[in-house]
Amino acid sequence: MASSSNDATPTTLFDLLNNSLLLRTITPHLPVASLFALARVSKSFFDLITNSPDAFRYLDLSAVRSAAAPSHKPLDSGAITWRAERMDEALTEDEFYSGPLRGIFSKLQRRNLLKNVYTLVLDGLSVPADLVREIIAEDRFNVRILSIRECTHLNERKLMQVLKYAVRPTRPSGSPRLKGLYVFGSKDPSPFTDAIPKPQRSPPRTPENIGGVMASQGAQIGAEWNQKSSEALNTALARSEHKWYQTAGRVLHRRPSPEWAETLKACEGIIYFDAVLCRGPRHDIETAYTQGSTPHPKSFLGPAVANVALGPTGCQSCHSCPEGPAIFGKSPATHLPLLSPPPLCSSTVQAAQRPSSVPGSPPPILIARCEECLRGRWCERCNKWWDEDCYFGSTSSNAAAMTLTAMQQAEQLQSITNENGQPSKNIKVHMGLCTAQCLVGEMMAGAGSAGMWG
Ligand SMILES: [Zn+2]
Ligand SMILES: [Zn+2]
Ligand SMILES: [Zn+2]
Repeated sequence: MASSSNDATPTTLFDLLNNSLLLRTITPHLPVASLFALARVSKSFFDLITNSPDAFRYLDLSAVRSAAAPSHKPLDSGAITWRAERMDEALTEDEFYSGPLRGIFSKLQRRNLLKNVYTLVLDGLSVPADLVREIIAEDRFNVRILSIRECTHLNERKLMQVLKYAVRPTRPSGSPRLKGLYVFGSKDPSPFTDAIPKPQRSPPRTPENIGGVMASQGAQIGAEWNQKSSEALNTALARSEHKWYQTAGRVLHRRPSPEWAETLKACEGIIYFDAVLCRGPRHDIETAYTQGSTPHPKSFLGPAVANVALGPTGCQSCHSCPEGPAIFGKSPATHLPLLSPPPLCSSTVQAAQRPSSVPGSPPPILIARCEECLRGRWCERCNKWWDEDCYFGSTSSNAAAMTLTAMQQAEQLQSITNENGQPSKNIKVHMGLCTAQCLVGEMMAGAGSAGMWG
């Protein structure tokens, strides 16, 4: 006999979480403290949280108070046990600064949870390179995607050695388990910022908030709308909301060193990063100019990390690029950066590289270059650029122009203008600005203030 609807048992929270798919989807959105609080509710919740491989698959410790190592205060409770065990031994500096996280990892290991962590986010925490080595090399860890953006006490040179060692040709088969590393980008704003209450104080007094036109509410709303509409336009043109796919200019907060490029090269196809190597034709010995000893605009360049996102339009003349754009699903995975934030519900490189896209439109395309490839052929203000086939380029860059005096800059500008005072059409970029648009704007501004171009 069929039971009436009144007899049906209502679905409980436990029933929902007992479904591994739902558990895997919901738990990354919960702060770790809430997960442990849930485990304390009852024996069945405890068993569910501690025995399911999905509850701790994604672990974000970046907002966990006990994971942080304040530099001028004694280490907090997360590390007390760990330190107490080690007080009789001489602590190295690295061990001291990794104490809080080691404390948390040993706690998770004792509860048999550490092996379940596949995506580990440690952004902004104190993470010495030795700790990264342990996460990559030790069997107690199973981490596939690791995020260590803006970490402190992280010796980058040592980190690069750790990575190169992990991918050495003689490494054991199946190693390293780590497949993706977020290290170049900025950390994401934490959804759990409530976990660390910030002291409230009034904003600092600046000329903007003391008074003046920009202080009016209308002006601020206007500026905010301008910012929002420019972001919306950029997203619509790029067909993706990720900075790497947009005409965003410099996307990394600092320019990665040549040693990082060598490290990415060594890790190619084994560990993927939140940045890629520049594929400009000058980095390829087959396509670069290698004749003679004098510097040439197309001469060979060593590996470099791409840090400038040029958007989908391509070169201003041919609307493409010699190396071809990178497209998710078509290009090799080594051409695609891991996108921020690290994926919540999957721990694969593919999920981390998949860009958001506008339904019904073709997949977004990515063109990114290193700054050396773009020297003299990229406008740093509007991000228009010309490739090696369409424009020979000039060697002047903003960096070079910075060292010139105002008089020398004015002389340089005059030297590239024709008798009508307009920039020569043969020169597309001068001092980091496109001559057709941004440089003219600069000259007009100069005419207003100094009268040099009036
Ligand atoms: Zn072109
Ligand atoms: Zn390059
Ligand atoms: Zn421009």
